[in-house]
Amino acid sequence: DIMQECIFCKIISGEIPSSKVYEDEYVYAFNDINPMAPVHILVIPKKHVANVMDINSENSDMISHIFEAISVIAKQQKLQKGFRVVSNCNEYAGQTVFHLHFHILGGRRLSMEMA
Ligand code: 5GP
Ligand code: ZN
Repeated sequence: DIMQECIFCKIISGEIPSSKVYEDEYVYAFNDINPMAPVHILVIPKKHVANVMDINSENSDMISHIFEAISVIAKQQKLQKGFRVVSNCNEYAGQTVFHLHFHILGGRRLSMEMA
């Protein structure tokens, strides 16, 4: 099924190695393999959801856990000067991995261009 094909599910299970930054019961975070900034971390729910369009009242608890984790990670990574959180959804945003993820981008002043 989809979860057996999903590379981020395989990263959570350890089947594909990753550089772990943070983990708790609901959330896993690791360094992006192709960093776009000095700090580029992906924060993902352990439960497979494709993207933002699949968030609903049944599963949205994961979002508060993810953002609590982002707050912890931002402090761990000393991102007090600023960072950006991005989630690409579907074709026009260039989503390539269909397991919900939030990019944390930081470690330098970021482009003012958001789109
Ligand atoms: P998207 O374009 O879907 O928002 O982002 C997917 C991200 O996952 C990309 O930034 C890409 O570099 C990253 N990525 C894809 N495959 C792997 C992998 O196997 N390991 C890690 N650490 N990152 C990956
Ligand atoms: Zn998955």
